[in-house]
Amino acid sequence: MAEHRFDAVIIGAGPGGYPTGIRLGQLGVKAAVIEKEYWGGVCLNVGCIPSKAVIHAAKTFEKIGHADDLGITVGKPVIDMKKMQAWKGGVVTKMKNGVQQLLKGNKCDMLNGDARFVSAGPDGFRLAVKTASGEDTVIAKNVVIATGSRPMEIPGFKVDQKRIIDSTGALALEEVPKRLIVIGGGYIGLELGTVYAKLGSKVTVVEASGSLLGAMDKDCVAVVAKKLAKLGVEIMLDAKAKGWEDKGDRAVLTVELKDGKSATIDADKILLSVGRRPNSENLGLEAVGVKLDARGYIIADDQLRTNVPNIYAIGDVIGGMMLAHKATKDGEVVAEVIAGHRAAVDVRTIPAVVFTDPEVASAGLTEDEAKAKGLTVKVGKFPFAALGRAVSVHDTDGFAKVILDAKTQEILGVHIVGNGASDLIAEGTLAIEMGAVAQDVNLTVHAHPTLAEAMR
Ligand code: FAD
Repeated sequence: MAEHRFDAVIIGAGPGGYPTGIRLGQLGVKAAVIEKEYWGGVCLNVGCIPSKAVIHAAKTFEKIGHADDLGITVGKPVIDMKKMQAWKGGVVTKMKNGVQQLLKGNKCDMLNGDARFVSAGPDGFRLAVKTASGEDTVIAKNVVIATGSRPMEIPGFKVDQKRIIDSTGALALEEVPKRLIVIGGGYIGLELGTVYAKLGSKVTVVEASGSLLGAMDKDCVAVVAKKLAKLGVEIMLDAKAKGWEDKGDRAVLTVELKDGKSATIDADKILLSVGRRPNSENLGLEAVGVKLDARGYIIADDQLRTNVPNIYAIGDVIGGMMLAHKATKDGEVVAEVIAGHRAAVDVRTIPAVVFTDPEVASAGLTEDEAKAKGLTVKVGKFPFAALGRAVSVHDTDGFAKVILDAKTQEILGVHIVGNGASDLIAEGTLAIEMGAVAQDVNLTVHAHPTLAEAMR
């Protein structure tokens, strides 16, 4: 049973926790990251990175199927799921190793184990860390909770990774299900639903609300919905999943429709993607008095301070936009705060990207949000179909939409739908962050032929 002492420890090595460790190391703070399962967190292991790998594979599969349009004759593509999974695994391993090398290179220690608070004392917080060989004690003057989140479940749907799968299960399938039901029309459900639709599944999306992709720009969502329909995906809105039965050879889902009637749908797999919940239990927070909100998120201020001095929390476990880059921003700020610098999370916008086909990306206010704030807005929209680049790469679905304050010409929001939107949004994010007006973008020379010309 070893005892370790640090100026700061971080619980959790996700995109919040590991950049905190790197930055603390760079700032000369004696720090360690404690991780129980996934170096790189959900993002690198079962989230952003593996999902983008399978999305890329499915997109390539679909593109090959249409190569004939470009005068390229190939046979009918065949998917080898085991091989695709092995390739995806290689991507994850490469990235995970990179995280550990970065921590090491920046002189931040790494401990493998499950950490929880035991007490607060004059020399710091005492944590118990359950390791493979026993239990270590860690004493730290500052603690950053970066424990992330996990998939939510709904009554009647227990994830067994056989019939009922979550995103982790969906990323590990070794066979393409013939029929897949996706419960939840948020970004994770639609990204993974698109993957399996392209690989040949008959996909049905069951969404309880009246729209897909929650708060994203409605015009952008309409383009995605049209492509989903083209892929044969059935979308059921205002439809609530009520329960399911295992019939041996299939699962039968019961759905309550808007008019109160019910319907049943057969499937081989049901993917539950109804949101995520914070990992704030089993951390011994009660031993040190850290407060949670009613939904279990840790309450933290713009310097990531909890109600207990010297305990901080970042990333998904404090809620807000549950995205990797938001967690990383929190991590970089909290490291500066611990090192005694003046820092706070003070950003105008956090971009959001949905890697559907086409992609949707958003920064700043939507038209509706700007109007709700009483602003007079002016909207500029440019279709990808009018871009030489989009036409020449045979991918013309989509547009860029810029929301301006009609009085000042300030760029309030940028919403892009179209393949390449994930990269294009960086210009919109920078424009909003810098308080740019329309002319700043318009007077900037954009290379030709590029998709970025849509922004001008
Ligand atoms: P996490 O990444 O959840 O990491 C927390 C870590 O803490 C975990 O490794 C966990 O094992 C560890 N931990 C928890 N408790 C303890 C303990 N007691 N002791 C030690 N270790 C502990 N976001 C994007 O921005 N872009 C995307 O494209 C994107 N795609 C996604 C796709 C999927 C399928 C999923 C599920 C998520 C996706 N996300 C995406 C969301 C993104 O993964 C999260 O927002 C991000 O991982 C949150 O980072 P975090 O550091 O707060 O927590």
